Amino acid sequence: MDRLRPFESIIMLSSGCREIFGRIDKEFGDNFQMMIDFSLLDLESRKDKAPLNYQMPLPEVRLPYIFMSVVGLNHDVFALLHEGGHALHQFAFREEPLLEYRSSPNEFAEVAAMSIELLSLAYLDVFYNRGNAARARRRHFEDTIGLFPEVGIIDTFQHWIYTHPEHTSRERSDQWINLMERFSIGVDWTGLEEAYRYYWHSIPHIFLRPFYFIEYAVAQLGALQIWQNSRKDKDGAIKAFKSALRLGGSRPLPELFRVANIKFDFSDRIIQPLMTEVYEEVKRQREMESK
Ligand SMILES: [Zn+2]
Repeated sequence: MDRLRPFESIIMLSSGCREIFGRIDKEFGDNFQMMIDFSLLDLESRKDKAPLNYQMPLPEVRLPYIFMSVVGLNHDVFALLHEGGHALHQFAFREEPLLEYRSSPNEFAEVAAMSIELLSLAYLDVFYNRGNAARARRRHFEDTIGLFPEVGIIDTFQHWIYTHPEHTSRERSDQWINLMERFSIGVDWTGLEEAYRYYWHSIPHIFLRPFYFIEYAVAQLGALQIWQNSRKDKDGAIKAFKSALRLGGSRPLPELFRVANIKFDFSDRIIQPLMTEVYEEVKRQREMESK
């Protein structure tokens, strides 16, 4: 299957995302337009430019800045929607007088960015025809499901590492395989046995950021609930979401969840219905793709 090619120029990418943000919420679109007008997007790939995507605040002017190295693929659209989500969060708490409150806990920063990605899925017609929009949506939902077992493996692995300080190299990779067999079911690694045993080498968090990885699951569960709320009552969901964004880091994480009208609860009571809804979407999008 050919790769999705959603845009031909940087302008098409930034104005397309601007259009999507504006369709989610007028203020989101206006804020992102300000970033375009003030040249706060450095998106194109250049020789010697780092292949990274990130958003950074510019604290003196209280405006966000986005750095990317775009190559023209679906991945770039989602990266700009994600980093744009972080940027919209910055706009939301821009008027907060205390510098320390003009940032939020990591988990909630990712709730903001991941929610914007999910809320954007309804407007992918900006970049794609019907079939390709369904394909991009289906892939996004599949990645969303795949995140949870991955987080389960990596977080459990780190707990084991730190509670078994005397372990040998062999025991470490055996433990990794145990966890892959427990969480990553149904993936065929035949012929890739060595890569399977050492796959964890490719996860920088294991080396650099102990116990950080679980934060992606915490945030995605929040983002999925915002997406779920928006399907029942878009205006109400966006209003609560924006109220939580405005609080920046002035409140603890559970309170940010409460204001966003989502549950700070990671039990199966929350996860099971969310995953069922996402899986139904995977099936629905796959049907639309093939029509
Ligand atoms: Zn992020």
